[in-house]
Amino acid sequence: MSAPFSWIRAEPHGIHVVPADCWVDPSRPVDRALVTHGHADHARGGHGQTVATPETLAIMDLRYNTREGALPAQYGETLALAGGVTASFIPAGHVLGSAQILLEHAGERVVITGDYKRRPDPTCPPFEVTPCDIFITEATFGLPLFTHPPIEQEIGKLLQALADHPDACVLVGAYALGKAQRVIAELRAAGHHQPIYLHGAMERMCRLYEELGVPLGDLRLVADATKDQMRGHVVVCPPSALNDRWSRRLPDPITAMASGWMRVRQRARQRNVELPLIISDHADWGELTATVEEVNPYETWITHGREEALLRWHELHQRRARALALVGYEDEDD
Ligand SMILES: [Zn+2]
Ligand SMILES: [Zn+2]
Repeated sequence: MSAPFSWIRAEPHGIHVVPADCWVDPSRPVDRALVTHGHADHARGGHGQTVATPETLAIMDLRYNTREGALPAQYGETLALAGGVTASFIPAGHVLGSAQILLEHAGERVVITGDYKRRPDPTCPPFEVTPCDIFITEATFGLPLFTHPPIEQEIGKLLQALADHPDACVLVGAYALGKAQRVIAELRAAGHHQPIYLHGAMERMCRLYEELGVPLGDLRLVADATKDQMRGHVVVCPPSALNDRWSRRLPDPITAMASGWMRVRQRARQRNVELPLIISDHADWGELTATVEEVNPYETWITHGREEALLRWHELHQRRARALALVGYEDEDD
């Protein structure tokens, strides 16, 4: 008999599943990788074999041309890995294709969330609470000050700015994978069916979302439009383009950014954002702690973000927790 949970190890560059000799979201190339979702700090190219949902594999193929060695795992499907380990992919509610990975070995259950959120999102299925012994969670917004408002409220602010400035446009900076498509889908859900103009860097990912069954309505390219055509419309660009020369072709843009970090005024100021929209694809503090209570694991492992406050919360609530020193995970521009 080996010691409990000795088959799963947190190494600096990823979670190592020892008997199956595979890694979850490794930050360097390995022979066998299980990947939670397509964001760059979790999904990297160059692995021998990559197991992920078909949507995540399609996103990785678009970004890194990693078709070789791709092994799709549908939500709810259980795969037998080497060494008596099984892996199941469960919706994480973060972006299209995002999954928690449930690993089981010798009667022990470990869930790795990757990034997740609990709010409804029209672009992906909702997070499913999965009971387990070890719950490996992110903590991007792991401070009590982070409470994300309802998205309807933030979308309402955007539409109001548009209505108040019919001769201008509202330029929304949004992460190219997930956030951009969610903002567009939420605008559509709020009854905004006007054309939405895209920075060229968003086009392929938006088209891929549509191919994978997420309708985004009338999308047009900024490059194909005149200034006058874009007056009174929403324009979406990557955050890096917000203060770029590129935006000079737009009609009097009001700069907005959709990010959980917009809760912090200084971050909005740093980016010259006039209209901060607090829209995040990560769990906020209340969701992080409520999720731990619902999952009710024997022990929580915290991967990346602000682990101190979440560790302290566990202590106060007589729950076991440890912070993992993983490298290569970054704050997504989320
Ligand atoms: Zn992510
Ligand atoms: Zn992440």
